[in-house]
Amino acid sequence: MPKLHNFDNTVYGVILNDKKTLAKLATSFNEIPYKNPPKAPVLYIKPFSTINTDNVVNLPKEVQTLEVGATLGLIIGKTAKSLTLENALSHIESVALVADMSIPHDSYYRPAIREKCYDGSLVIGEKISIDKLSDIGNLMITTQINGQIANTRTLGELHRGIEELLVDVTEFMMLNVGDILMVGVEYQAPKVKKGDKVTISAKGLTDLDFVIDSTDTATSKKAQSMPMPTEKIGRILHNGKIQNVTAKNDKQIQTQAGEILDETAVDWLPPIEIGSVFALGLNYADHAKELAFKAPETPLVFLKGKNTLVGHNAQTPRPQNVEYMHYECELAVVIGKQAYQVSAEDAKDYILGYTIANDYAIRDYLENYYRPNLRVKNRDKCTPIGPWLTPANQITDPMSLQLTTRVNGEVTQQGNTSDMIFDVYKLVEYLSSIMTLNPGDVILTGTPEGLVDVKVGDIIETEIEGLGVLRNTIVEKNNIH
Ligand code: CA
Repeated sequence: MPKLHNFDNTVYGVILNDKKTLAKLATSFNEIPYKNPPKAPVLYIKPFSTINTDNVVNLPKEVQTLEVGATLGLIIGKTAKSLTLENALSHIESVALVADMSIPHDSYYRPAIREKCYDGSLVIGEKISIDKLSDIGNLMITTQINGQIANTRTLGELHRGIEELLVDVTEFMMLNVGDILMVGVEYQAPKVKKGDKVTISAKGLTDLDFVIDSTDTATSKKAQSMPMPTEKIGRILHNGKIQNVTAKNDKQIQTQAGEILDETAVDWLPPIEIGSVFALGLNYADHAKELAFKAPETPLVFLKGKNTLVGHNAQTPRPQNVEYMHYECELAVVIGKQAYQVSAEDAKDYILGYTIANDYAIRDYLENYYRPNLRVKNRDKCTPIGPWLTPANQITDPMSLQLTTRVNGEVTQQGNTSDMIFDVYKLVEYLSSIMTLNPGDVILTGTPEGLVDVKVGDIIETEIEGLGVLRNTIVEKNNIH
């Protein structure tokens, strides 16, 4: 079974990034549901439970074949923001061969959570300093299955080459030291089944070897858990240290050392150390209607990276020259105990508590609902979360909480968690049927109707009954980068 990693970084992948794949799909892109080929790189994020260093990939339940997505992972060595073609490569510290193992699937219209997020689906090889590779842009990657060559490709066939991809990605979000960006796998990559041995190789890199097995990992899970706090807790950065705080009154907070501070005079962090962040699209019937979408039949889930999270009272940049940026007030569920194949009936025991998220979206960048576009949903500092983690046992019924958003004091959005399409327990059931949820993982459960465009200078307050008020200010992009 894959080891549990304390992985602080985000692993990004990109689909539809090679010339062969785009040529194969060229006709489909002009048909429903796509209608147009993607304009921006179609990025996705891997949850931490996918990281596999055991060199055994277990088939998910009821799955007989997997596709071997052999690619190169770029490991960031220097904070990367707004890179240029000239300086892009100097931000990569090392590279590794990676196998992003997918359940075969055809559509790129919706996020492939079941297909790409099962435990151990991401096998990462040994890191090699980028300086040791010559001509990385034409690196040839070979996939062998049981000693036979199944596929060879060169990175020269990428639609966006390494530098171009880095420029496009860092135009709208930061890549942090240790983040991994996979440069893309081919459509209809070679398939493997139980017992197959896979070797991925490239000149200058250590071979990546692993086998396919079908051990059910459910029984071997360690029940890791976080203790439930006894009262609402928050976290601040104070005197250079991360400190837990509690509420003294409406305006003041108290550190564990007893120091009383004004809540507006401190730097708030997300209320706990957050692991993987899952977010729901269209999980309130009224909101789906507002955007003219049919309510989804299974939860529409995507992931968010660490770059996008900020705490209470933070500033969020509005990109320049955009028409529409809206807030989304959301109940955030925090997992407290490792959860795998948990039923909705038992889900309550796995929830540590609840907090508030404001899942800003820049609607200008929405393209046809290809895999949720990170330009819309994963920009730096665009997901305030907090201020408090409220222990689950202090919330009698999470499915009957009032949500309210105020812009400059005026109520613009109101709803109730009772209107969710998939309730919090069903969401834990759904996600844990696909992968292991770990303590610190967070599920943003979607937003009701009532979205308006927000402008520079606006103060946005998202409030959830019993949880508190999360405040955020919209600023000009250049003011904070
Ligand atoms: Ca949302």
